[in-house]
Amino acid sequence: MDSNGETKPHALVIPAPAQGHINPMLKLAKILHSKGFLITFVNTEFTHRRLLKSQGSDALNRFPSFRFETIPDGLPPPENTEVTQNVYDICRSTQETCLLPFKNLVGKLGDCFSPVTCIVSDLLMGFTLDAANELGIPEFIFSTGGAGALVCSEQFPTLLDNGLMPLKDPSYAVNGYLDTIVDCIPNMKGIPLKYIPPFVRYINPGDEFMVEFTNVQIKKAKMASGIIFNTFDDLEHDILGSLASVFPPCYGIGPLHLLENNMADQTLTSIGSNLWKEDPECINWLDSKPPSSVVYVNFGSITVMTPQQLAEFSWGLANSKHPFLWIVRLGLVGNESDGLPPEFFQETSDRGMVAGWCPQEQVISHPSVGGFLTHCGWNSTVESISSGVPMICWPFFSDQFPNCWLSCEKWGVAMEIEGDVKRDEVERLVMELMGQEKGFMMRKNAMSLKNKAHDACTFPDGSSVIALELLIHQMKKTL
Ligand code: UDP
Repeated sequence: MDSNGETKPHALVIPAPAQGHINPMLKLAKILHSKGFLITFVNTEFTHRRLLKSQGSDALNRFPSFRFETIPDGLPPPENTEVTQNVYDICRSTQETCLLPFKNLVGKLGDCFSPVTCIVSDLLMGFTLDAANELGIPEFIFSTGGAGALVCSEQFPTLLDNGLMPLKDPSYAVNGYLDTIVDCIPNMKGIPLKYIPPFVRYINPGDEFMVEFTNVQIKKAKMASGIIFNTFDDLEHDILGSLASVFPPCYGIGPLHLLENNMADQTLTSIGSNLWKEDPECINWLDSKPPSSVVYVNFGSITVMTPQQLAEFSWGLANSKHPFLWIVRLGLVGNESDGLPPEFFQETSDRGMVAGWCPQEQVISHPSVGGFLTHCGWNSTVESISSGVPMICWPFFSDQFPNCWLSCEKWGVAMEIEGDVKRDEVERLVMELMGQEKGFMMRKNAMSLKNKAHDACTFPDGSSVIALELLIHQMKKTL
């Protein structure tokens, strides 16, 4: 209750335990807090230990109305805390083990803190909907990929029923079969099979499980009170429209980092979400470089590559002669050292910086950054577009494929490294991105989307501002 005797809304926010899920959901939690909600942010125990290590307990635990809780993920703790966790294992384990601890937690919060009035859960944490239904609490699903990725995954059953997938023989991939245009995905006209999230090819161990898992999560999401996206209307208007015909109300409230800057309670800025420690030198280094001169290279928190691929990227960057900031996360190549050779550092010492993790939002919006070589994670894609920065895409996994296709074909803000990465291709694309006609056009398109993103999050009639108000209104309806 507040001082007027009214019940305070209490949102329990629960992301899947992965960096690209925690970041946008923590931003939404902070925004809801600034709108008068009590917040309980639920991490898995393992993830929370990492967050405490990178952010410090004092930064996380000083706000009585914004609290953290944990549930076990059901997996044995990895020996190396900075290891890249296996997404398939997490999905399987949370689905099998988390329902009971989650229900117990909601009960405990009601007894000891304040009753939970709504749940905001990750699309991948569908077990929470079973709890929400049983406990009579409205639940909103956060789909942390783009709307384009969800509209593709929603069609997995159709692709399988039509016999287009699974890939009957891996050799089809090299024979051009994956260039087949798919016409069953609403508002993704012209998308070739190779940009559909590749689980549905059933090539890698665990793919079949991931498709079944995705189908179940999507079925559950259709029963939620609403679906939340870190996107904005001008970017994915038509796709959001087609999703709204099969899902509950869809709310495009992004880019969330812009909305957070405009709305969130600034006292909460100490609560960071990076699981790796950021290297503060990155910003100083960028400060020393001319405007739009630097290629920023980062493959996010899950992508892994072979030592050969690392070598191709490194020599492609070195040979392009452009300044670069490259984030080589521990675990990018296995879980050992980064593997970059001393000759690479000698060759690029006057123009390159390599670090282990950075404050990406700050980096990507820094005036010195002129292009982004990325794996096309959805957060990275949105952060790049809303900073007016064009991209080179090297998608690795899941939604990164439709994100890449949309960025290159629909929004005209990116170019793709096709096939296996080769140093000459990296060099050529970096030079095109940073200095040639195509790079110029892509930057112009990205700048136009940047302005639209800012309008969506800034003005009272901005699409994301309005969607947020509608979402909050619906969240408070049951009070
Ligand atoms: N990120 C960061 N510093 C880094 C790398 C990534 O702050 O050095 C953040 C980035 O801003 C984004 C998230 O981590 O918000 C990565 O999410 P994304 O969806 O781009 O990729 P994923 O890690 O899920 O593959």
